[in-house]
Amino acid sequence: MFAVVNAEKIMLSPIIKSEIDMQCPRCHSTQAAKNGRRQNRQCYKCKQCGRQFLESYKPWCYSNDIKQLCLKMHLNGMSLREIERVTEIHHTTVLHWLRQAQSTINNISQSPKN
Ligand SMILES: [Zn+2]
Repeated sequence: MFAVVNAEKIMLSPIIKSEIDMQCPRCHSTQAAKNGRRQNRQCYKCKQCGRQFLESYKPWCYSNDIKQLCLKMHLNGMSLREIERVTEIHHTTVLHWLRQAQSTINNISQSPKN
């Protein structure tokens, strides 16, 4: 099955939470400095606005490639739970991307074609 082949490729490729740029929830700057740990999670402090936030504040902060792969897996018929098992990305995160993608598609189809 195509979906399974894709999933294997993903498992072999370095997926990669370390690629994530921590983005400030307030000003969306990625200029965040590590600021100690709290409850076993890395804390960050935004250099732009000074807002402090935890690593997991934006769980959908994965690279665009990872996002595209998850969306492709879903288009190939994998359920969100299956994608979660393969990629270790939470299914609600993938669901968030799906909604994002759908609204993008809606925007495109609503814009005048010329
Ligand atoms: Zn900020």
